[in-house]
Amino acid sequence: MTWVMWRRRRAAAEAPDPTVEARLQDQARALETSRSQMEDLLHGMVEGVLAIGPRGEILVINPAAREILGIPPGRTPAAAADVVRQPELKALLDTTLATGGPAAGDVTLYAPAERRLRVHATSCQAPDGRGALLVLHDITDLQRLEQIRREFVANVSHELKTPLTAIRGAVETLLDGALGDPRHNRSFVEAIAEESARLGRLVDDLLTLAQVESKPIDRSKRPIAVGEFLTRELARQQALAATCGVTLTAEAVEPALTVSADPHQLTQAVGNLLENAIKYNRPQGRVMVRAAADGPACRIVVEDTGMGIPAADLPRIFERFYRVDKARSRETGGTGLGLSIIKHVAEAHGGSVSVESRPGHGSCFTLRLPLA
Ligand code: ADP
Repeated sequence: MTWVMWRRRRAAAEAPDPTVEARLQDQARALETSRSQMEDLLHGMVEGVLAIGPRGEILVINPAAREILGIPPGRTPAAAADVVRQPELKALLDTTLATGGPAAGDVTLYAPAERRLRVHATSCQAPDGRGALLVLHDITDLQRLEQIRREFVANVSHELKTPLTAIRGAVETLLDGALGDPRHNRSFVEAIAEESARLGRLVDDLLTLAQVESKPIDRSKRPIAVGEFLTRELARQQALAATCGVTLTAEAVEPALTVSADPHQLTQAVGNLLENAIKYNRPQGRVMVRAAADGPACRIVVEDTGMGIPAADLPRIFERFYRVDKARSRETGGTGLGLSIIKHVAEAHGGSVSVESRPGHGSCFTLRLPLA
């Protein structure tokens, strides 16, 4: 073999095999694709994810974990000890790194914001041994809602119990002999009638609230001419106004205002506003109703010359069962749910309700609903 032939054969042997090169390129592409898929997945997760190596070094941290732990976007901490400082969270991590077993628990972080976290820690394979994977679920809102639900159930039970106790007391007194006492038996029966009417109102308001909260209203919306609607509502409340010695008038109601609303819910909301303005008024007091366009919204204003609401109570006035004066609310047959029904109706329609009040002078409630 000549030297030239030898050189040619060697060059051929050293030249890259085109099929092997193509396979390597495919594998590199597949690796790149799966790496970017993994990154997308970690970026899109609402749970915080932290992968930590056997010596406590941070291998992976996703944006949600950064946000939960308060790590600014530009900074990448090297060690878990720099960011996992909360003692219970640290204990979960240490247990998993030491035992390799899964661990879970609820912890409260106080910085950067107060949050309740449910943490799941499992072991994971790191390049130089077994590390730990922390998944952080933010359950702050869930726990707050659960707390609200518990309080609501306790409040409802209490509100139902009060009239039931009164009814039971009156029935027992009647059965114990008052039934045969012509001077008193009627008053006990009247008390039973009054308390059962209160129970009925409470159940009706609870059902209304549940419906407003759960029912999508888009299909029940109709165009409603505000002027005609208010004339009807004012007529409906005239009897109550006369009983309380209050004058109820429509003042400036702009013509041709139309809102798109669920007629039943709007009746409930405006009816409750008018009833309150009458009930919490003074004898010879006045209730004035106005309606006007305000940008894309219709503003329905109910102003009264009643007792007003102290500034300290204003922030809580739309909460369920919140009453400024329990005795007055009870006297007037209130359930404590009227204003929260109004607020839910307004919000379900994409609107709002607000109040201004001067104790001793009166209150002014404004209901804003989008114009049709
Ligand atoms: P209630 O059934 O007790 O009237 P609401 O939810 O309608 O319940 O109102 C909550 C509380 O807000 C009332 O108990 C009352 O103390 C206060 N309030 C509501 N409207 C007025 C008003 N127009 N003037 C003064 N206080 C009011």
